[in-house]
Amino acid sequence: MGQGLLASCYHREGDALACEGVPLRRIADALGTPTYVYSAASIRSQYAELAAALAPLGAHLHYSVKANSNLAILSLLRSLGAGVDIVSGGELHRALVAGFDGRQIVFSGVGKTRAELAAAVAARVRSVNVESEGELRLVQAVAAEQGAVVAVALRVNPNVPVDTPHPYTRTGEHGMKFGIPHERIVPAARDARGMPNVQLVGLAAHVGSQITDMVPYETAADVLLALRRAIEAEQLARISVLDLGGGLAVPYDDEERPDLAAYTSALRRVAEEPGVELLVEPGRFLVAESGVLLTRVLYRKRSGGQEIVITDAGMNDLIRPSLYASHHRIEVVERHGGDPIHANVVGPVCESGDFFARNRAMIDAAPGDLLALRTVGAYGYVMASNYNSRPRPAEVLVDGDRFGVVTERESYEDLARRERTTPRWMES
Ligand SMILES: *Cc1c(COP(=O)(O)O)cnc(C)c1O
Repeated sequence: MGQGLLASCYHREGDALACEGVPLRRIADALGTPTYVYSAASIRSQYAELAAALAPLGAHLHYSVKANSNLAILSLLRSLGAGVDIVSGGELHRALVAGFDGRQIVFSGVGKTRAELAAAVAARVRSVNVESEGELRLVQAVAAEQGAVVAVALRVNPNVPVDTPHPYTRTGEHGMKFGIPHERIVPAARDARGMPNVQLVGLAAHVGSQITDMVPYETAADVLLALRRAIEAEQLARISVLDLGGGLAVPYDDEERPDLAAYTSALRRVAEEPGVELLVEPGRFLVAESGVLLTRVLYRKRSGGQEIVITDAGMNDLIRPSLYASHHRIEVVERHGGDPIHANVVGPVCESGDFFARNRAMIDAAPGDLLALRTVGAYGYVMASNYNSRPRPAEVLVDGDRFGVVTERESYEDLARRERTTPRWMES
């Protein structure tokens, strides 16, 4: 299910690219460029497809907020029934503003501060996914201060190699900063048992992102199940939640869609274990395909035999191509019989790394033409910066025939709002 619906979220009406019932041209005319556009129908469709696949497993779906933390998107996913997975105090704040209850929140992250943990304990989050022995001790101290007992899951580094498109999206191998090495999990559970304000309830693993081969999920699930048995054999804790993290891939070009049947069959061994609840934390899968970045061509030039298309969006707006060598399809929003060309599509930022595509086959685009960079709904706007003092773009949600701003475009005043020409000198 879902595929037909998903395809229709972005479609051509004649020569013009539209998002659901709204031609992208109308959004650019009303709000300018660069602008991120998200299709609500796409998010609903991806959520429905995944929720249906997971329903027989009784799994709990916690959306990974870092993929796209816009309040309107959080609110949409909340209305669909999702919980959230957060990695910072800022994401906790957003989740609470979007209406999530603490019981719908799990808190991951390798470097949580005392203040972040205190806020999470105060919000009564469902669990803190602890990534080191030091963090476990800090959770105990913070919970004791508040007279609370905090549910904790230990994040396991399962030492599972995964084949993701870029090394920066691998997280589950030894020597990486994430999680507690699996051979130290049982000792950590012994530590937790001596902590009166910590209740160890779960084990978690997140092996990486943009995963298409489901074997790493099977391996991670087996590691968690074995550790659960070891912990329960020593009667250190009752482990009732196993969290398999996120990582499901989406197609950025013409790759296959992830095989959800293979995904759920990899997870079934967890769901079938008596007394265990399965939890998953998808991010990219739910939102990536919902988004496009609308940008206008400013200039064309030729250099060294290379066609160059210069857009009004830059790496500060979308850093994925420079950071991960990611591929994003680029479409001319209104085709008017342009010839095919091979071009470098680049932004205005003063860096050679400021590109969206190199030597890309595309329809010729002239200054003034609108382009849509596809599949930017995840890890797009959330990674935007103000480099080169460029205000961050607006974000727009489309729902049927309507579109509405969900983040205003930054202004020049916004850029300098927290700065001073003379320092606010501190007493020494
Ligand atoms: C980033 C992250 C996710 C989501 O990953 P996706 O690849 O976007 O699905 C889930 N869990 C944790 C702990 C993460 O850090």
